[in-house]
Amino acid sequence: MLNALHTPLRLHKKIILFIFVSLVLLHTWVPAAAAGLNDTDVLQQRQAMHSSAVNDIQATSMVPYYTIDGTVNPDPKKLTFTATETIVYTNRTSVALQNIGLRLYPNLTDVGGSCILTTVKVDGSVVTPKYGPQRYFVTVPLAQKLAAGKSVTLQIGFTTTAPTNADSNLFGTLVWDGTTLSMPYAYPMIAYLRGGMWDTTIPDSKGDIVSSEVSMYDVTLRGPSRGYTFVSTGSTLNTNTTGAEQSVRIYSGLQRDFAFALTKLIKKSQTVAGTTINVYGPASRASVTNAALAAAVAAVPIFNARIGQYPYNELDIISVDAGDFWGIEFPSFVLIEQDQYKINPDFEHLIVHEVGHQWFYNVIGNDVQRDAFVDEGLANYTELLYDQARNRATDAAGTIRYWKDDLDALRDNGNDGIVDQSIDVMSDDQYSTLSYSKAALYIDGVRLQIGEAAFATALKSYFTASKYRNVDGTAFRSAAQTACNCNLVSLYTQWILLK
Ligand SMILES: [Zn+2]
Repeated sequence: MLNALHTPLRLHKKIILFIFVSLVLLHTWVPAAAAGLNDTDVLQQRQAMHSSAVNDIQATSMVPYYTIDGTVNPDPKKLTFTATETIVYTNRTSVALQNIGLRLYPNLTDVGGSCILTTVKVDGSVVTPKYGPQRYFVTVPLAQKLAAGKSVTLQIGFTTTAPTNADSNLFGTLVWDGTTLSMPYAYPMIAYLRGGMWDTTIPDSKGDIVSSEVSMYDVTLRGPSRGYTFVSTGSTLNTNTTGAEQSVRIYSGLQRDFAFALTKLIKKSQTVAGTTINVYGPASRASVTNAALAAAVAAVPIFNARIGQYPYNELDIISVDAGDFWGIEFPSFVLIEQDQYKINPDFEHLIVHEVGHQWFYNVIGNDVQRDAFVDEGLANYTELLYDQARNRATDAAGTIRYWKDDLDALRDNGNDGIVDQSIDVMSDDQYSTLSYSKAALYIDGVRLQIGEAAFATALKSYFTASKYRNVDGTAFRSAAQTACNCNLVSLYTQWILLK
């Protein structure tokens, strides 16, 4: 994400290595068919993937599989999403799970909406969930432990309600702004496992708030047809309009979570390298919508070439009149705060940064609360890759200078700190400088030490090895060390682990 913390222009703990390696091995070991996934599901899910990535569906198996069917009501007096959800969840850890953890993001005080569960069933039997603080984390009891490799089916009824006119006191992503009903994480989501334990912590909203496993979604949304379009993660394969009602069937492919909006904004589209990019903006600002589209259309092929092929057919960017953030990434779905369309002199880099997150956040996942620098440092670095690929030497130099000045300012104030720490122990200044500027300077330090050829190899091998997984900072370091046949531990320690 980028927010007001990232002034002036720019602007989401370590997992122990052996756990990471264990998870990688577990991913490798699982059999080649996702639980609950029939041949029709496979065919449909493949359709959301870029032609080069369709076989990833079968190769990346046993991921959580969500089927959601619901109705959206954008009446300002309602602002509801009422749905049923089925989650087929397979225990991919090596230990039995006592229960299943769910997260209800709309209930977070900082998000300001609500998600009320009306029924919860486990393998067909009604259970009584237990709620944590803010009714965010939910413990779903199991009649018996879920052994490693075994699956369970949750059936949940829920209603999510969005706040109106989220202001700077709210995170602002879940919102009705009069034109768009923005509904990210509007459903009960499987919680994040860290070292075999459900993460029950209330996320700190100075950064990204969703860490998750790659999953697949089959979503049916119903809502009013007149003037409204559904925009979402993944691809819409069927649309039916009957009178004043429409319904859409969406398949996500392999994505980290699911976001959608119902909007009356105007769409501008272009297809590049097999991916259709849609930008939704106000009719009164068509030139800026076009500029956002141009930046995304330029960025995607650059990142395809430098990092790896964007594995989806679609990428949506939508403006919203929200609150606190400038831009925030969701899987194949980006929210841009509407004011940025007119006030941000570096609007192009804002778009590029959020597009870059599709590689570093969505395809390659990380713990965005404990290891924010893993995706933010590289998403920041994509801005430099973009400038350089477009032969904008002055802009590229300016980008690096900004990172250095930002870090110098933090040091001058005596606030330099460890990059690899949980964002809730950082001040706002530390978070914005350490996770973004200092982490990007570390990436540049790697590049300077290992040279252009090895750095180019490292970016690509990092993407290939980490695709659809969750990693920490050691994954990129390993890719770079292999590429240069050298040791980068002291560089990593200096930039990331020490002040
Ligand atoms: Zn970011």
